[in-house]
Amino acid sequence: MHNYIEKVLTKLKKRNPGEVEFHQAVEEVLESLEPVLESDSSYEENSILERIIEPERQIIFRVPWVNDAGETKVNRGFRIEFNSALGPYKGGLRFHPSVYTGIVKFLGFEQIFKNALTGRPIGGAKGGSDFDPKGKSDQEIMRFCQSFMTELARHIGDKTDVPAGDIGVGGREIGYLFGQYKRIKNRYEAGVLTGKGLSWGGSLARTEATGYGLVYILAEMFKDKQITLEGKEVIVSGSGNVAIYANEKISELGAKVVAMSDSSGYIYDQNGIDLDLIKEIKEVKRGRIKEYLEKYPEAEYYNQCHDIWTVDCDLALPCATQNEINLEAVKKLIENDVIAIAEGANMPLTPAAIELVQANNILYIPGKAANAGGVATSALEMTQNAMFAEWSFEEVDQKLKQIMINIYQEASTTAAKYGKKGDLVAGANIAAFLKVANAMLDQGVV
Ligand code: GLU
Repeated sequence: MHNYIEKVLTKLKKRNPGEVEFHQAVEEVLESLEPVLESDSSYEENSILERIIEPERQIIFRVPWVNDAGETKVNRGFRIEFNSALGPYKGGLRFHPSVYTGIVKFLGFEQIFKNALTGRPIGGAKGGSDFDPKGKSDQEIMRFCQSFMTELARHIGDKTDVPAGDIGVGGREIGYLFGQYKRIKNRYEAGVLTGKGLSWGGSLARTEATGYGLVYILAEMFKDKQITLEGKEVIVSGSGNVAIYANEKISELGAKVVAMSDSSGYIYDQNGIDLDLIKEIKEVKRGRIKEYLEKYPEAEYYNQCHDIWTVDCDLALPCATQNEINLEAVKKLIENDVIAIAEGANMPLTPAAIELVQANNILYIPGKAANAGGVATSALEMTQNAMFAEWSFEEVDQKLKQIMINIYQEASTTAAKYGKKGDLVAGANIAAFLKVANAMLDQGVV
C-alpha cells in the first residue's frame, strides 16, 4: 500500500477509536486511490486525505420526547456535516437503534463521493438517531421528530445543509420534520429537506428514485456486456423504499424477483413476489413480511433474514443495510452462479465479500454508484424548489436515468484510465475523489 495511505489510515483509527464501520468505508475509498496519488503528488503535498477524512462539523444532541404512556424518553441525535466542497451538505437521516457516530460517519463519508458522482452541486452529510421507530404510534413519531428538529433547525438550511430520509425516515417523518422547521423559522424554505410530500414541494419519482436508479445502472452495465435482464431470477433483500422500487423496475424489464426480506426473515415465492401485496403490507399497514403467507400460503417464509442469500439466483440486489452480505453469503451466491451484484443499500458487502466477488469476476456495482439515484433525485427536487417549478414524472425519471447512465460511463472510463479496467469500485472512488479533492484544492486550505 502507498505510504501516504497507510499513514492516513493509522491516524484515522487512532483519532476515531472503535468506529469500525467508518474505518471500513474510508479504507475502501483510500485503497482505490493508489494510482491517483502515484501520478499526482499535489494531493499528498496539500494533506487532502487528512482533510477529507475529517468531518467539517459534527453535531451531537439530546432528543427528549414523551411517549404515549406519559414517560419522558431520551435519545441521541446526530448530524455529521462532512464535506461542502461541491455544494451544501446533503444526505439522509437514519432512525435506527444501531445508530452511533461510527455509523453516521461511515454514511456521511460515503455520501460525499456518491453525491459527487451524481454531477449535481451537493456536498456530503448524514444524520439520524438511535431512536427505534418500530412499534411506535404516529403521535410518538411526531413528538420525536418535533424534538429532533427543534435542535437540528439551527444547523440546516436550503443553502447550508439539506437532510432527507434513510432507514426509518420516510415521507411521514419528513412531513413532521418539515412542519416543525417551518414553525421555528417562520419561513417556507421548501429546499431545506427533500423527500417531501407531492403537494408541498416534493418531487415526482423521488420515492421510486433509489430503486429505479439501481436498475437503470444495472441495465446500462448489462447493455455494455451484452447480457439481457429478461428472465433473470433476482433476490432483493429488504422491503423498504429501495427494495420495493428496485423490484418494480426490474420486473418491468422482464426479470423475476423471487425473494425479499425484512429484519425478521425472508419470503421465497418461486412464482415471483406479488409486489402489490408487499406494498400493502409495508407501505400501508407497516406490517411484517411474514404476512405475505396469509395470501400465498404456498410461498415459503424463513425467520433468518441473512439466509436470503442461500436462495438460487442470477442477480443479487442487497437493499437492506450495511454488511448484510458477508464472505459466507458470497460463497453461497457464487456456488449458485450469480452473475451480478448491485448495491441498493449503503456498504452492504463486507470487504472480504467484495474481494471474493472481484476475484471471481462477478459483475459488481458498488453502492456509491448504484444507489446514487435517490440523492440525485433529491438534488432534482432542490432544483424544482429553487425554480418554483414542478416537473412531470417522465421528466424527472428521464433525468434520473441519464444521471445513472453517466455514472456508469464515468466509473468505467475512469477505471480504465487508471489501469483498473472493469473495476467499478476503483472507477467510482477515483472519479468522485478527483471532483471533491480538486474543488478543495481550488478553494484553498479548507
Ligand atoms: N439516504 C439516501 C442515501 O443514502 C438519500 C439521501 C438524500 O436524498 O439526501 O443516499
